[in-house]
Amino acid sequence: MRKISDQLRRKGWYLFRNKKVKVDLITPRRIYFKVEGETEEHSVVYDRELNEWSCDCKYWSLKFKWCSHIYACWLWLRDKGLIKPKQ
Ligand SMILES: [Zn+2]
Repeated sequence: MRKISDQLRRKGWYLFRNKKVKVDLITPRRIYFKVEGETEEHSVVYDRELNEWSCDCKYWSLKFKWCSHIYACWLWLRDKGLIKPKQ
C-alpha cells in the first residue's frame, strides 16, 4: 500500500462503501474496474502480475500517485480477499 493522503483515503473509502466500484472484466492478468466518480466514470486497471495500478483520471495522469479511485478498487480487492495486504 503506497502512501496516500488522508483525504484521498476518505474519498476512496466513501466510493467503496457506497458501492461506486464495479468490476468490468477479470482476466488472468488484469482486472478492469469502473468507478463512478463525482462528475464522471473512471476506468481503473489492476495488473495482477506486476502489481501495478492505473486510472484514467487527471490526478493519476498528472502525478502518477494513487488516486481515490485506485484506492477504492484496492479496498474492493482486499474485501474480496484477492489481494495480499502488503506494500
Ligand atoms: Zn483516478
